[in-house]
Amino acid sequence: MTTGSSFETIHKPAVSEFDVAPNLDRNNVQEYDWQQMFDELDWLPGGGLNKAHEAIDRHANGPKRDKIAMIWEGKNGEREDYTFGDMKRETDKFANVLKSLGIQTGDRVFTFMDRLPEQYIAVFGILKAGAIAGPLFSAFGPDPVRDRMEDSGAKVLVTQPDLRRKITHIIPELFDLQHIIIVNKDGRDPMPIDSQDLDYYEEMGKAPANFTTVATSQYDYSIMHYTSGTTGKPKGAVHRHQAVVQQYATGKWALDLHEDDIYWCTADPGWVTGTSYGMLAPWTNGVTQLIFEGGFRASWWYEQIQKHKVTVWYTAPTAIRMLMKAGDEVPKRYDLSSLRFTASVGEPLNPEAVVWGKEAIGHAFHDNWWQTETGAIMCANYASTDIKPGSMGRPIPGIQLGVVDENFDPVPVGEDGNLVARPGWPSMFHTYWQNTEMYNSRFKKGWYITGDTARMDEDGYFWFVGRADDVINTAGHLVGPFEVESALIEHEAVAEAGVIGKPDPIAMEVVKAFVSLKDGYEETPQLRREIMQFARTKLSAAVAPREIDFIPGLPKTRSGKIMRRLLKARELGLPEGDTSTLEDD
Ligand code: ATP
Ligand code: MG
Repeated sequence: MTTGSSFETIHKPAVSEFDVAPNLDRNNVQEYDWQQMFDELDWLPGGGLNKAHEAIDRHANGPKRDKIAMIWEGKNGEREDYTFGDMKRETDKFANVLKSLGIQTGDRVFTFMDRLPEQYIAVFGILKAGAIAGPLFSAFGPDPVRDRMEDSGAKVLVTQPDLRRKITHIIPELFDLQHIIIVNKDGRDPMPIDSQDLDYYEEMGKAPANFTTVATSQYDYSIMHYTSGTTGKPKGAVHRHQAVVQQYATGKWALDLHEDDIYWCTADPGWVTGTSYGMLAPWTNGVTQLIFEGGFRASWWYEQIQKHKVTVWYTAPTAIRMLMKAGDEVPKRYDLSSLRFTASVGEPLNPEAVVWGKEAIGHAFHDNWWQTETGAIMCANYASTDIKPGSMGRPIPGIQLGVVDENFDPVPVGEDGNLVARPGWPSMFHTYWQNTEMYNSRFKKGWYITGDTARMDEDGYFWFVGRADDVINTAGHLVGPFEVESALIEHEAVAEAGVIGKPDPIAMEVVKAFVSLKDGYEETPQLRREIMQFARTKLSAAVAPREIDFIPGLPKTRSGKIMRRLLKARELGLPEGDTSTLEDD
């Protein structure tokens, strides 16, 4: 079959398609009327809508007041629990702090912090104050912080002492910045706070514990996120309060969230997944979520699942590949029986990884697709539908996806083309900050152009081919790097692979692979030949890599995506372009 992978379909019990959303007609999901979901929201008196009210106050004002919203485990093993009632009190206080600083509707307030409870409190306080929240990833160096703060004109920055020091020299360049609020969690940092800065705890101590959420409309701006910078300079995608309806709905439909779940999203709030699904989806659904401040280590992660009895786990391909690399023995040492549903986003999830989940941890990973610009999940493998490993599933109810050619006209089923979406889905971004021209360029012939290429099969499943820029043209064949990478990582020695098109006078481009090996394997010419041969039998000779280089690790964005454009620039000796989101070696 042209549209599938060589892995067998994983069948699910024959229950209704969207068993968590019984009101949906399985044959007619694209006709879904969002009004039903809008009706489930708790609109503000007067008809406004605010994400913080939906995620926190509606529960704090009702029977879930004493339910735990956030279990926080610190990097030193600290633990703090916050109920929805606690979250309301704290976010009300923070909104009052911002009000006292003169922050008004539409002002930008940025956070630059580790995964501390105070970051979650700050973001919802910002939303209550009617301002636009901009969470920055704490591993950023000074330049990416300056670029984003300057571009957005943020007035307030909420940060922590060590990160404040890291960016000291850029502060004088930020002309719009009026206040810096420092969170010195548990006095972790011994140095006194700079006298020009505000102490978070002192300000919170003075702030009244009640705040009337600003009556934002559903169209008011709420959160802005810079894209990952995988393909170029990151863009500031701006979202509106009404995105919450899709974050809420997809929490149910794509992540299968239920009342009693303990949910863990491993993404950092510095990336859109960490807010849409690390804040909004679980809390609008009234679900308890785990926030783990610690970094990645296979044993720590399994321990978190065991200790907190995580039931729903949303992570990313890069993390899954690292877990695979750590070996199948590691998960056996932990009790992972609490898990019920596992999902992945951010990059193509290799079929090998889907199946590995089933074998090693007892649950296949459900891949889903979306982007910073879409604000919420657009296409998913659902709890109750069959998984075709390697496919990103089917569109969310009410979302129309299409595949179009270079003239933006639909291509036949099974053919590759540009992945597009019909504009108007609730969580659609509203602009790129200060870059309307780029925003407008993303819409053609009534479609939003995602910048990815994909195909749809006869069952309506979508298959990711590549980013439009990454697709390789070799001797007249269009080759998606993902297909080649997936074949390579099926080889027992291969941990990760990144594939590019290398210019060639005859074939236009040839497929070149960069491969990093699993622990315990040596980079020998013989192994290289073996991997090349393996790829030829898996793929065809035309598609298999002509060249393979071993490298210790692939260049990735800090959110874990393989940066093929950098592999290519390095290979060709060209300038590397924007590397502000490149992970440290
Ligand atoms: P930039 O736009 O700055 O180059 P980026 O596109 O990586 O960066 P994000 O919005 O974080 O920024 O990522 C969205 C992209 O990630 C998608 O357009 C797609 O290329 C990729 N992606 C996300 N989920 C999946 C998935 N399930 N399968 C394949 N690709 C995915
Ligand atoms: Mg993108």
